[in-house]
Amino acid sequence: MNILVINCGSSSLKYQFINMDTETVLAKGLCDRIGLEKSFVKHGKGDEQPIVVNKDLPDHKVAISSVIGLLTDSVHGVIGDMSEISAVGHRVVHGAEKFSESKVINGEVIAVLKECIELAPLHNPPNITGIEACIHIMPETPMVAVFDTAFHQTMPAHSFMYALPYDYYIKYKIRRYGFHGTSHRYVAERAAALMGKPISELKIVTCHLGNGSSICAVDGGKSVDTSMGFTPLEGLMMGTRSGSVDPALVAYIADKEGVDLKAVGDVLNKKSGVLGISGLSSDFRDVLEKAGQGNERARLAMDIFCYQVKKYIGQYAAAMGGLDIVVFTAGIGENNNSLRKQMVTGLEFMGIAIDNAKNAVRGEEIDISTEDARVRTMVIPTNEELAIARETARLTSY
Ligand code: ADP
Repeated sequence: MNILVINCGSSSLKYQFINMDTETVLAKGLCDRIGLEKSFVKHGKGDEQPIVVNKDLPDHKVAISSVIGLLTDSVHGVIGDMSEISAVGHRVVHGAEKFSESKVINGEVIAVLKECIELAPLHNPPNITGIEACIHIMPETPMVAVFDTAFHQTMPAHSFMYALPYDYYIKYKIRRYGFHGTSHRYVAERAAALMGKPISELKIVTCHLGNGSSICAVDGGKSVDTSMGFTPLEGLMMGTRSGSVDPALVAYIADKEGVDLKAVGDVLNKKSGVLGISGLSSDFRDVLEKAGQGNERARLAMDIFCYQVKKYIGQYAAAMGGLDIVVFTAGIGENNNSLRKQMVTGLEFMGIAIDNAKNAVRGEEIDISTEDARVRTMVIPTNEELAIARETARLTSY
């Protein structure tokens, strides 16, 4: 069984083509600048060096056709024809309260997805465009939607409700939804497997730390709290996002800067976080390098980030009434041992202790705790595409 996984943005489309018998990536790539000048497709077969095809991609249908053209190409392809694509798995950002699990896509599902647009105006429209383009090109191929929000639908009301007038929840669906659910679920399950215990018996805090960052409390395999909320702006400070700030600041900044609320939203989403504090870059590598050279604001940005992660670990241990595993994943969580060390330093009282030699290992699933640590700390590379492919295979193998 071969699954094509699609992650569609407004002007880009990332894909992976996965053989599910061996769970190996047969090919992967990216269509970029869709609808813009100088569009191209970058396509790689297995471990081979990717090729770049400069090609006019006026819309997502042409992009999908190009992907299929490359997958079936006699030189760069991996299959003979389209019938060897067993199913397509689509990453969808927002499923609201309608979708607490992945769904086989039909007309009804698309209609509900469209209803969710107001909750994710930037993300859901391109996701839907990608789905419709695939249905147009591959009308006979089953499609599955896998939602970033679905895993968090198990959060109890006391963690998903904001203390706002209750009517807003009813009228406007204002509540905390959480994101990165596919990743939190995947790494929590891998962590349980690595520990050799059923996930139903474990209390896990998963830290997905990348360009966007969120933390999740996974109790018995279920998300019971997470740091992102109604939008992916809440919670931790991120590359360009402020994370949680005093809500009164929105009107205050608008007044002081003489700008409207949308402009303040742009500041909070695009000019804050690591970029805002350091004044240098949103990329943690750049900022760490400057911090190493003595730049104080760069150091401060890293210190705020690590402090916030540490507080979430403590909060979620309290929320769950215990803690068995802390997992680090995504760009920063997987790759940066010094930040990992800083995030857990001071949590020894909770039973967390990491082994410096093990913490130096990169790119593999590893328990980095000391032998006698009561709480296990792990690094688990996330693999959202494989998780989407597994969900797609599960729902379409009949
Ligand atoms: P996305 O949310 O786009 O999937 P990633 O999970 O790829 O993001 O994470 C990207 C972030 O990870 C960037 O800020 C990058 O600087 C950071 N990153 C990657 N490698 C390292 C590293 N060795 N040290 C610190 N940060 C890193």
